[in-house]
Amino acid sequence: MKIGKSEFGKLKSGEKATLFTIANESMSIAVSDVGAAWIGAVVPSRSQGAQDVILGYPSAADYQGGGGYFGATVGRFANRIGRAAFSLGGKTYKLPPNEGQNSLHGGSDTWAYKLWAYEVLDDGLRFSFESPDGDGGFPGNVKASVCYRLNRENKVIIDFKAETDAPCPINMTNHAYFNLKGEDQGDILAHRLRMRTPSYLEVDAESIPTGKILPTAGGPMDFSQEKEISRDIAQVGSGYDHCFVIDKKSGELAEAAEVFEPESGRGLRVLTTQPGIQLYTGNFIKNQPGKGGNRYQKHAGFCLETQDFPDAPNKPNFPSCVVPPGKAYAQQAIYAFSW
Ligand code: BGC
Repeated sequence: MKIGKSEFGKLKSGEKATLFTIANESMSIAVSDVGAAWIGAVVPSRSQGAQDVILGYPSAADYQGGGGYFGATVGRFANRIGRAAFSLGGKTYKLPPNEGQNSLHGGSDTWAYKLWAYEVLDDGLRFSFESPDGDGGFPGNVKASVCYRLNRENKVIIDFKAETDAPCPINMTNHAYFNLKGEDQGDILAHRLRMRTPSYLEVDAESIPTGKILPTAGGPMDFSQEKEISRDIAQVGSGYDHCFVIDKKSGELAEAAEVFEPESGRGLRVLTTQPGIQLYTGNFIKNQPGKGGNRYQKHAGFCLETQDFPDAPNKPNFPSCVVPPGKAYAQQAIYAFSW
């Protein structure tokens, strides 16, 4: 693997961000220490040559505060915690709400906006971050890391790790937006998606899970047979923004989703050890400045965020996401490209 390193510009704090590229013989990815984010993937195609298939912000500084969390490593708790509070060990923890009354993606002090330390590996990059006790309202001193590697089979392997000195809910995910036609090539509605997800989490009007796990079969949430993302999207409000339950054993690495884009012939398979996968179809993107001077519009990209179940800290029937001291949090996601 070839690893490249270049300056990525200054952050609002004056600190310098760094851009890294990881390349095998046929494709490359770009990652940065700002938000430990995955900000590019130049992938060949059957018909159009190589294109960047990941959406990005125009500059490093835009990654800090970007409401879209483009490519970011999200923590401590990806997705939502209802009413921005949870109880643990007889104590109630109040988080600063950042989406109405709820907490989204770790709150306004999210790991997604931090500058992470980095270590260059033979085949990738490891980013690490120390989150002190009370950071974002969460208990425990947490040491977190995320490692991006690219292999010869065009698999991007992401390892999320964390250790804490007090019990704390941890849910790390990657928030890359893909458009397999090319990041500046319009919307993703004609992409074909299949998911191994027999059920999904019902949510209320604020996108907080109700606790009910509903079957996907036969409705708009049914992706058991490959279908265009657009096919049933009108039946789910402004688009898909739901956590699906993956058909696998707890902790097992298994395939969760497969996407195919017919014009370019590019495909993407997503494997994970995590129990859930949030399909988000970029519903709230509106005239968003992107890299290369583009402006992204609604559905410009899709996210397949591997994760624990949203609001798990408040839902006793969901798998526990509480990491105790002495037991490391370790999850893996693999994004495998083909063309
Ligand atoms: C959430 C969306 C949110 C988006 C960007 C996704 O993970 O589910 O509701 O708009 O992130 O913040």
